[in-house]
Amino acid sequence: MTRRPLVAGNWKMNGFVAAVSVLEQIVAGARALSNVELMVCPPATLIAGFAVAARGSGVLIGAQDCHALALGAHTGDISAEMLKDAGAVAVIVGHSERRQYHGETDAAVRAKVLAAGRAGMVAIVCVGETGAERGAGRALEVVELQLEGSLSDDSTGFVIAYEPVWAIGTGRTPTPGDVAEMHRLIRERLVLRYGHGGEETRILYGGSVNPANAGDLLRVENVDGALIGGASLKAAEFLAIAGVYR
Ligand code: PEP
Repeated sequence: MTRRPLVAGNWKMNGFVAAVSVLEQIVAGARALSNVELMVCPPATLIAGFAVAARGSGVLIGAQDCHALALGAHTGDISAEMLKDAGAVAVIVGHSERRQYHGETDAAVRAKVLAAGRAGMVAIVCVGETGAERGAGRALEVVELQLEGSLSDDSTGFVIAYEPVWAIGTGRTPTPGDVAEMHRLIRERLVLRYGHGGEETRILYGGSVNPANAGDLLRVENVDGALIGGASLKAAEFLAIAGVYR
């Protein structure tokens, strides 16, 4: 089973129009990285421009969230269909910042995964325990429940991102052993639920990945790439992380 690795950058609420120069550096660096899929998920305001700038390069453009419905009276929201129309091929759903600051439940995330599928987009579904949950020895149980609740039995074409909440933006990371244990559990649950599809599903690690620790974290079994926050804002760091797959 060979799963093509994916390294995706989550720019969060960072970046103005001029940041297309960062994307252009990533596009240039991507030419030397044929073994890995690269994706940049900028703020929604930049998706259309980035999609044009990246066209034909192999660098994919993704979004950071979507509404569950296709259209309607939802002021300020953006549907998966609209993101697709703007040039995004994937959308991050259930990021811990959405779960924490916008109260997104597993059921809400599941509806967004369905929306992504309906629009013909890949959902990058985030799961991960808090520091308190890991401290209480509940990390595996929490992630298993999130995985169960955030997906439907007929979900297809999604990517999982394991992102321990306590590792996001903190500079702290789990040990490769802890990552291996969690990714093994996620793989087992996916195979149990989706059979062969579960074998093919990519499971990314996310949380304080940087060029110095990427080699150790991304070479762990069942780690099929990374979701990167802070380090994805600098083309050189993002490319250095993806360079693990050179
Ligand atoms: C993220 O928020 O998805 C993330 C992984 O952030 P960072 O790399 O900055 O920890």
